[in-house]
Amino acid sequence: MTDQDQATVEKTLESSPTLESEINSARINALELKLETLSLITESLWNIVQESNIECSADLKDKMANVIDHRAKRDSIKVTCKVCNSEQKASAPYCNHCGNKLDYSGEISPFDY
Ligand SMILES: [Zn+2]
Repeated sequence: MTDQDQATVEKTLESSPTLESEINSARINALELKLETLSLITESLWNIVQESNIECSADLKDKMANVIDHRAKRDSIKVTCKVCNSEQKASAPYCNHCGNKLDYSGEISPFDY
């Protein structure tokens, strides 16, 4: 293959991305949106705490450790997908095996989504 052929192949790949790369781009966009939403929630909650004259001297790292413990407990709750019968985290909105929407009627933190 000549250098010119190689350049043509590379240009073709650039101008017609594969379905996989389109899916990955969509996933990255969804993750960026989720990250931005979580960042907004965190900053808003922090502002509420500060404006409410609530005692803010608690160690934030201790609070984060508590949240990590609670999340581990929530993540240990499992549901069975009705479509593929695989075991899934109750906190997940969709089955990561077949994509079926999971419906868990127990308590789920809004931060799990
Ligand atoms: Zn499934």
